[in-house]
Amino acid sequence: MKIILKSKSSHSHYYNVTFDFSDGKVRILCDCPHGDWKRVCRHRLAMLNGDKSILFEKNQAAQLEAVLKVLRQPGFDDELVSYYKKLQLIEKQKSQQDDLVRQLNYDFGLKLAEGIAVIN
Ligand SMILES: [Zn+2]
Repeated sequence: MKIILKSKSSHSHYYNVTFDFSDGKVRILCDCPHGDWKRVCRHRLAMLNGDKSILFEKNQAAQLEAVLKVLRQPGFDDELVSYYKKLQLIEKQKSQQDDLVRQLNYDFGLKLAEGIAVIN
């Protein structure tokens, strides 16, 4: 069974997000450029998060809800939760890295201003 929902794009155009249920799997595809490269895109994430404002056609809201109801099961939920946990961890590490860079720049700026010993 395939369910195709239209996602808004940044242009006036739309992208097709396909939920393909077959062989005991669900494949979620998007025909946007990221999707074509099998990368995560905002269209699929928005739909997976139940964000109906991403729908190009408002009357597809019930279909999206029906799809999400089917996806609300351990196998799929675990993957989604795991994705967001990893993403959150990386964001936290990035923020810590940024703090380290800020501190390093501050320390070195101070040294430059206050003077560094040289041999005359
Ligand atoms: Zn997409």
